[in-house]
Amino acid sequence: MAETDERTLFQKIHDGEIPAEMLHRDDRAFAIRDINPQAPTHFLVIPVRPLARLEEAEEADADLLGHLLLVARKVAGELGLDKGFRVVINNGREAGETVPHLHVHVLGGRPMTWPPG
Ligand code: 5GP
Repeated sequence: MAETDERTLFQKIHDGEIPAEMLHRDDRAFAIRDINPQAPTHFLVIPVRPLARLEEAEEADADLLGHLLLVARKVAGELGLDKGFRVVINNGREAGETVPHLHVHVLGGRPMTWPPG
C-alpha cells in the first residue's frame, strides 16, 4: 500500500482544518461537495486512509473500494439523484488527477454525454 508522507488536502478537510460541506462521515470514508462543481450536484467520496490513487490499491483494499461505491450510492440517493448519476475516478495526471488522495467523483442533476472529455 503506497500512501503519501505528508497530510493531504482531503485529510485536512477530514480533520476540519479546511472547511467543506460534509455529506457523509464514517470510520472508513467521508463525502464532501466538490468546491468546483462540474454538474448541479458534484460530490467526492474519499477514504479516510490516504491511499494515493486507485493504481495503488491492493487486494486487501477490496472492501474499502466497495464501501466507497456504496457510500456514493447512498449519498446520491439522499441528494435526490433519482434520474441517474455518474461515478468517476481520475487515476494519474493524464486522466486529470490533481489531488493525490483517492476520491470518487459523483456527478448528477443534468444529462451527461458520452464519451467524456
Ligand atoms: P481530481 O482532479 O484529482 O480528480 O479531483 C480533485 C477534485 O477536488 C476537483 O474536482 C476539485 O474541484 C476538488 N477540490 C480541490 N480542492 C478542494 C477543496 O479545497 N475543497 C473541496 N470541497 N474540493 C476541492
